[in-house]
Amino acid sequence: MRRKLAAGNWKMNGTSADLAQIETLARAHVGAISEILIAPPATLLHRASEITKTGPVTLGAQDCHASGSGAHTGDISAAMLLDAGASYVILGHSERRGDHAEQDSDVSAKASAALGAGLRVIICMGEALQEREAGNTLDIIAGQLAGSVPDDVSGENLVIAYEPIWAIGTGKVPSLAQIGEVHDFIRARLEQRFGAQTARAVRLLYGGSVKAANAEQIFAIPNVDGALVGGASLTADDFTPIINALDAI
Ligand code: PEP
Repeated sequence: MRRKLAAGNWKMNGTSADLAQIETLARAHVGAISEILIAPPATLLHRASEITKTGPVTLGAQDCHASGSGAHTGDISAAMLLDAGASYVILGHSERRGDHAEQDSDVSAKASAALGAGLRVIICMGEALQEREAGNTLDIIAGQLAGSVPDDVSGENLVIAYEPIWAIGTGKVPSLAQIGEVHDFIRARLEQRFGAQTARAVRLLYGGSVKAANAEQIFAIPNVDGALVGGASLTADDFTPIINALDAI
């Protein structure tokens, strides 16, 4: 059985004062059925790890460098993130692909580095609106899956987040049938490449404007194992009903 995962991506939001949100969340979900993950900015990881040490919340980072160390000013290695308290890293988010021109090969190299350091990876993929409208969604996903996911993954250390770019932060959400189609497709492609046992164990998250109001319907879709949540993960008040909806499935 795949354990459901509610993952919050804080993006470039949050200072020390916001650590209280993680504390509140941890207190509210003692004994949660689902795994709960917060990916705060790297500046907060270490302090957040002090708060989450014994509770139900695990921590993730939002990116890492593909190298283990060296002359890469401003970058952070996977081992540093692990040392700061992360157990996951989000890779290939469309904002990284857009803002930093990250290619599938970059994402794959980062994923290998992260796995080598002992982190689990959440690899993001999704189509732009024009690609959806042109009927190319599954081709885009197939390409991103083949290019961004390295060979050295296991069912336990790989999570895939399907995040249509046009649904991120916009309030627009694909139909339940559209989400289901892509998740079924990803599971089938994983099976072709890694075999049935691994494919069955990989968790597939949906991401893009998940809110309390739509979470229950989205989580009821087969092959949706949770969500990657941006805006609605920034406060415990907003994230809690999403986690509760996932726990209720
Ligand atoms: C995200 O950035 O991963 C995301 C899904 O954002 P939002 O929930 O705000 O659409």
